Amino acid sequence: MANERKPMMAANWKMNKLVREAEDYVARLLPRVADLTDDVDVAVFAPFTSLPTVGRMAEDSAIIAGAQNLYFEDSGAYTGEVSAPMIKDVGAGAVIVGHSERRELFGETDETVARKATRALDAGLMPIICVGETKEERDAGGMWDKVSGQVRAVMEALDSPSGDAVVFAYEPIWAIGTGETASPEDAQEAIGQIRGLLGELGGEEFARGVRILYGGSIKPANAADIMAQSDVDGGLVGGASLEADSFAELVEAARDSVSRDRDAS
Ligand code: PEP
Repeated sequence: MANERKPMMAANWKMNKLVREAEDYVARLLPRVADLTDDVDVAVFAPFTSLPTVGRMAEDSAIIAGAQNLYFEDSGAYTGEVSAPMIKDVGAGAVIVGHSERRELFGETDETVARKATRALDAGLMPIICVGETKEERDAGGMWDKVSGQVRAVMEALDSPSGDAVVFAYEPIWAIGTGETASPEDAQEAIGQIRGLLGELGGEEFARGVRILYGGSIKPANAADIMAQSDVDGGLVGGASLEADSFAELVEAARDSVSRDRDAS
């Protein structure tokens, strides 16, 4: 890491866990990460049904409760949708926007992602904005076209955000849930490129302050090498976040990278 940005380790539960399971998980996680949250932001992105539980349990702790999606209107005739004020109302402070599963399976476009990110930010929720390419796009040499287009679409919509208000997550789609991880060097290269573009679009101060996570089959065995990359500010984790103990190990890996940087400086 070697920079001033506080790393974030984020659990994306996707469509998993009943309320009781969510409760057990957070009760197990909290004591394991209590001493780590000064150095690492720990976020749990729960389904809407267990979000109030996670939100309530997060209230008296340093972990952040988050939603996995939102709609860009605040209220009205939008059956099945959930708005930013509703998400805040149950104690959440963050929301994932534009996860590749939303884009690929539910037809979200760069435009809807940009509207959602804007609404989250305006409402005081921290958007975790996901970008990433498919295997076909990567193999055809189109990785940067895809990723830079996604980043531009969102940055054009946001109104000069401060670096600490938004988070980006580079998640190559071929690495999500597949067990195939980008090499630490590939993750660094892509995230460094994204930071460069964010500098052009949002200014150098924004680019220095904004956190960019890596996501795609992170697990305790590969987390340290990924976290050691200078532009990687943490991880967005699916499969390996479903057990509290395994997620806590990832938080420890992020904390260890901070400690190594401190020792080295
Ligand atoms: C994700 O869902 O954002 C993700 C990175 O999943 P996994 O860690 O399972 O690849």
